[in-house]
Amino acid sequence: MKILVTGGAGYIGSHTIKKLGRKGHELLTIDNLSTGHREAVLFGGFKKGDIRDPVFLKRVFSAFRPQALIHFAASAIVPESVTNPLPYWENNISAMVTLLRAAVEHRVKMAVFSSSAAVYGEPEKVPITEDHPQHPANPYGMTKLVGEGILADCDLAHGLKSVCLRYFNASGLDPDGELVEDREVETHLIPLVLKVAASHERSRMAAKAREQSRLRPVKPAGCPALLRATSDSQSSGAGSSLRPVRAYGPEGEQGAKARPLRHAPSAMRSVVHIFGNDYPTPDGTCVRDYIHVNDLAQAHILALEWLSREKRSGAFNVGNGRGYSVRQVVETARQVTGLPIPSQDVPRRPGDPAELVASSVKIRKVLGWKPEFPELEKIIASSWAYFGRGIEGRK
Ligand code: UDP
Repeated sequence: MKILVTGGAGYIGSHTIKKLGRKGHELLTIDNLSTGHREAVLFGGFKKGDIRDPVFLKRVFSAFRPQALIHFAASAIVPESVTNPLPYWENNISAMVTLLRAAVEHRVKMAVFSSSAAVYGEPEKVPITEDHPQHPANPYGMTKLVGEGILADCDLAHGLKSVCLRYFNASGLDPDGELVEDREVETHLIPLVLKVAASHERSRMAAKAREQSRLRPVKPAGCPALLRATSDSQSSGAGSSLRPVRAYGPEGEQGAKARPLRHAPSAMRSVVHIFGNDYPTPDGTCVRDYIHVNDLAQAHILALEWLSREKRSGAFNVGNGRGYSVRQVVETARQVTGLPIPSQDVPRRPGDPAELVASSVKIRKVLGWKPEFPELEKIIASSWAYFGRGIEGRK
């Protein structure tokens, strides 16, 4: 199938592209690279451009003539949407209208849309089923709800059939280690927790290395042993002295895709902030349904197959149906990494519902979806394989 993918260079988009590419679909990604990475698009063509630009879209649709559209491109940080809502309306709604106008003009008949659990707001009951009332608790969720409404209108008026996938908390990483989670500004719990873990371990190793080099016997200047000691202490210290870590390819590989990680240890947090300990949940912290990004990617493939077969629209939750509190996530990360991860309770973050847990009955039954990585330990371990790189073998 010829599929146009907006935002395919982002975290969920790139994982989905990889799965679609392996199935032999003909793909074209369009992405403005505001948060995504060109190197993350492992299959199909790529055009840098903005979905707010109708001229760019017309060129792309006319040349590629897609049969289906997968629309990931959006602003997607809940707390930012509260403090700075207008870009959310612009990127998630104005741009989506421009995109759908082009899709309708070019007779695209199928679309998969990245919706969100945020459309439900504070749930009246959990697990949340797809027919649960929708009262978003933040501007991000509101834009996703409106996006679903626009698609429903396009179905009625233009026969554009769509599947809205309501993502719960996307997390984890490509088990092959080819794709990374690399945001300029990180706000998500699991990567932040793992960055704290890695940062502490690096500091500990640096202190140990300094101590070892201090205890080494001093030899006359210029003697090879002293030169070796100096370079050893530099290469095992913190910050720039760390072994270079590469993403998108084996470490040290000389390939166009290899590039240094951006999160330098100096930029890392030293403590995990737990936002709010007075929610009406068992331990007082927010409960979320963490779903592995590969399982989320698989839902897009099944949604496209369902659309081709059934030719009707639908909405599906994509979650495992199991909730974990913020404290449980931190504790599980301690077990997975074997590292003490310090945490500190701080006030609530605006716009956070207390508990978001999916009912996954509908997606399992109708699309035949089944998660491959439902366990939180495995999800965190798949991320740790990336965030913990560079400290391996140095303990
Ligand atoms: N959270 C936290 N500390 C952080 C980041 C997130 O306590 O440094 C909490 C956040 O308040 C929410 C949960 O972790 O209850 C998941 O947040 P995330 O930003 O990962 O995803 P969201 O649920 O907002 O989409």
